[in-house]
Formats: sequence, C-alpha cells, structure tokens
Amino acid sequence: MGNPLVARMRGFGTTIFAEMSELALSTGAINLGQGFPDTDGPQVMLDAAIEAISSGRNQYPPGIGVPELRIAIAEHQQRFYGLRVDPDREVLVTAGATEAIAAVILGLCEPGDEVVTFEPYYDSYAATIALAGGVRRTSVLRFPDFAVDEASLRAAFSPRTRLILLNTPHNPTGKVFSRAELDLICSLAREHDAWVVTDEVYEHLVFDGSAHIPVATVPGMAERTITISSAGKTFSATGWKVGWLHGPAEAVAAARTVKQFLTYVASGPFQPAVALALGLGDDTYRAVASSLQAKRDLLCEGLTAAGMTVARPAATYFVIADAAPLGANDGLDFCRRLPALCGVVAVPVSVFCDDQEAARTLVRFAFCKRDEVLNEAVRRLGSLAAR
Ligand code: PMP
Ligand code: GLN
Repeated sequence: MGNPLVARMRGFGTTIFAEMSELALSTGAINLGQGFPDTDGPQVMLDAAIEAISSGRNQYPPGIGVPELRIAIAEHQQRFYGLRVDPDREVLVTAGATEAIAAVILGLCEPGDEVVTFEPYYDSYAATIALAGGVRRTSVLRFPDFAVDEASLRAAFSPRTRLILLNTPHNPTGKVFSRAELDLICSLAREHDAWVVTDEVYEHLVFDGSAHIPVATVPGMAERTITISSAGKTFSATGWKVGWLHGPAEAVAAARTVKQFLTYVASGPFQPAVALALGLGDDTYRAVASSLQAKRDLLCEGLTAAGMTVARPAATYFVIADAAPLGANDGLDFCRRLPALCGVVAVPVSVFCDDQEAARTLVRFAFCKRDEVLNEAVRRLGSLAAR
C-alpha cells in the first residue's frame, strides 16, 4: 500500500534522541546524547505528587490546568521577571513545552504562513511547523560564538511571516540571547506585525551570572509574545511532562482551542506538585544552576583534553564541540562510531540544521549527569586524544 505517512512528515523519521539513546542501551555506552538528568528534583515536590495520587487526584484536571498551578505560574513570572499575568485568562498548562509549541503553532499558523527560527533548532520546531503546513525560514547561529547574524535574520522575514519561534537560553548551543539581539528580533517582529513565541524552558539553568531576559519583559512586547516553559528542566522531572504557556488572552485562547484536541489534559497529579515546586525558595533555583555550572566545567575541560574545540555554553544542559580536530568530517557518522571508539554517546548538531555545512563536524554533549558519570565519560573521551 506504499508509504502510509503523510508527505509533510516524511523526512522526520525517528528522532535523533531515540536513535542515540537506543545506541547507548545496546552498546552500554554512557549516554550524553538525550538531555535528561540522572538525579531527581526536590524531595518535597516528589512527595507532593505521591500525596496527590494517594488523595485521589487521579481524574482529568481542568482543561486549562489546575488552579494552584496556574496561580503558581503567574506568581513565578511576577517574582522573577516582574510580569503581571492573569492565571485565569492568560495561562494554559500543557503536556510539556512540546505540546505548548505544537498548540501555538497549529493555532496561529495557516498553511503557507512563514515561521522564522534560528538554527540549529530544537527538533520539534521543524516537525511542528511542517505539521501545520507552515514554511520554515531560518537564520544560522554559527560556531563558536553563535551570535545573531543581522543580515540573514532580516532576510528570513517577509510579508508572509506569521511568527518568530525563539529559544533562549538556546538548545543545543547553550547560548543566552543578549539584550541587543533581543531588541533586533523584537523590532523585526514589530515591523512585520509577527507574533513572538519564546521557548524559555532553560530559564533557570544559566551560569556565570549571565542574565536570562524573557522576551515578554522587552518594552512593548508582552502584547505580541507567547512565553513557553516547563517543569522538566528546572525541577529535573523531564518525564512528568508538565509545561505551560502564557501570553495575551486571545493567543492563549487560540492555543487552548487546539490543545483540547491534542491531549485535552495531561499529568493530573503532577500539576499540584509542580505548583508547590515553583514556590520553593531561591536557594532551590540557585542550587540547580550552580550544580550544572560545575558539571559544564568538568565536561568542557574533558572535551578540550580529548582534542576537540569547545564552545563553552552560558546556559542549558548542553555543550557543542567540534570534532574536526580529531579528524572527523561528518558529525552523524562520528556519533554513530563514538560508542565503539570510546563508550560515549552524543548527538550530531547537523540534524538540527537546514544548512548542513554550518554544523558538519559539530557534536552536542549533555552534562546533566552525576559527577561520577561525567568523570568516567571524560576518562573515556580522553582516549580519543591518544589516537
Ligand atoms: N524546548 C526545548 C528547547 C527543549 O530542549 C525541550 C526538551 N528538552 C523542550 C522544548 C521540550 O520540553 P518538554 O519535555 O517539557 O516537552
Ligand atoms: N530536549 C531533550 C534534548 O534536547 C530531548 C527531548 C526528546 O527526547 N525529545 O536532548
């Protein structure tokens, strides 16, 4: 009967995370590919989820999310960024940030509408734009500093631009967009009357005193900005899939209309637990960033010692290294061979790019792992230098 998959989803096969996590399992290699921590988040949050299950909160939560979580999200935005958010009309709880991205793009884009994004991009962006029948227009962030290139960004905008899909702090580069870069992006969005959809899931995983600037705080931008985040990264609970979006009520309503028919609702008993976690003290937020910063340093030193050129990240779980000095000329091929070469799994950056040349030998490593795991990975990677 031929290929049953719709044409617009061909080319999205199996995600690189599934392929590389499978490779790690089958070879016993250390998995620095898919970004998930190997320790749990705050115990009080875990206990709150157990309590929610034990006390019978096991049926459908309200479609927009349980009230205490929507209130906690609004309070979090006020506390950290001074943003005033109405928890009843301007917040929507989703099945992770992934569903928030899908609900917004499917809710705002007509077929043929253009979506501007930076590459390398998080893999769900390209697939979701394709699902919506949208057209992806990208601007390349180039190794090693990944600065915004004004000319190519301007060229990506057109009269068909419906929205710009931004991600700061950025996966996979670990970049935090600067004030000047955000000002440029925002002025282009205004000029083209486009929405800004900003994925800020790594908002709290920022190092060296760098400042994450939420797009919604840029003067005049709140009225055209939809902000997305998730509990997965901040509270080391990627499997809970509790995400959210907030923005102007009419945009949230558009996303809600779509979201009703994606999952309707998800993660019932985890929602009150995340509400509790969002209200924890600054020490909880600081601890996760400072622990990750030390892990970043450990892995960056190890990758450098292994002979790679490293772009030291200011945020996130990830570091990009260039494997060209090791003789690699194709990142995907290098990653498929890495378990046999030294017992480590990573992901090639080219799978997140349209411009293959810009990322040909770049490889992403995740450092959100226990120190003993990272130390062993560094020891194994060290054997590459001797080759
Ligand atoms: N956006 C980015 C940039 C991510 O890295 C991830 C996952 N790591 C997501 C969205 C998806 O988040 P969630 O697991 O909450 O769906
Ligand atoms: N966001 C995670 C990463 O970039 C992976 C999530 C997934 O497997 N889809 O590694």
